[in-house]
Amino acid sequence: RRRRDTEGVVVIGLGRFGCHLATSLTQLGHEVLAIDRNPDRVQKWSPTLDRVVQADATEVGALRQLGLADFARVVVAIGASVEASVLSVLGLAELGVPQIWARATSEQHARILAAVGAQQVIFPEAETGERVAHLIVSRMLDYIEFGDDFAIAKVRAPEALFGRTLRELGPIDRYGVMVVGAKLPGEPFRYAAGDTVLAPGSILIVEGSIEQVQRFAALT
Ligand code: ATP
Ligand code: ATP
Repeated sequence: RRRRDTEGVVVIGLGRFGCHLATSLTQLGHEVLAIDRNPDRVQKWSPTLDRVVQADATEVGALRQLGLADFARVVVAIGASVEASVLSVLGLAELGVPQIWARATSEQHARILAAVGAQQVIFPEAETGERVAHLIVSRMLDYIEFGDDFAIAKVRAPEALFGRTLRELGPIDRYGVMVVGAKLPGEPFRYAAGDTVLAPGSILIVEGSIEQVQRFAALT
């Protein structure tokens, strides 16, 4: 019986996106097997990453020879060539890789990737664009949206919450958001409690439905 390499992650395609992904995974302590068909890219990244091999990921035989069937997680980071990305995902699905992540560059591309077997489709340009839009137009400093109508944001505290305890102000009743953490000026982040009193310059971590978090961040 084969044993899956549950710790390691395979990254296919060392373009701008793939190389940042592979480096971050390495920094997080994961073993990375990086694959690119371009020998110049392979040479460029060999000193930085654990294992970099040259192979064409659209050839299922090559993927099999590299032992990809034993990996639990593979990311297809190829972007520009829809054909190469789709064929790579198809091959990985044929090998039985349980967690295939794939990068899409358009809505149509995303739909094809999901149809041929990618469990997780990432769309970095769309996701980053959406996130940055929130950061520009509201008091948000950081923002993560979860699919099931839930969001967490780092927000500059609105004036309406200054000077009284969170218990008295009741942000859940009033705005529908839960204050999870608070950072008073010059202090570190702490869990928010009933007796927390905010001052000008405070920063909050709030969670709630997407609409309520956005409305809260738009308060002055
Ligand atoms: P990025 O935006 O991440 O720089 P890109 O869209 O500009 O990517 P792509 O054409 O997607 O560029 O290529 C990303 C990397 O994937 C390149 O290094 C390329 O050599 C590699 N790549 C493309 N096709 C394959 C393939 N069939 N097998 C392996 N690697 C591939
Ligand atoms: P993305 O990764 O967001 O697709 P890109 O790197 O592929 O971007 P860019 O060359 O950055 O492409 O161009 C993004 C958009 O900005 C294009 O629609 C382009 O026409 C426009 N653009 C580029 N230079 C200028 C300029 N000097 N003035 C106005 N618009 C510009």
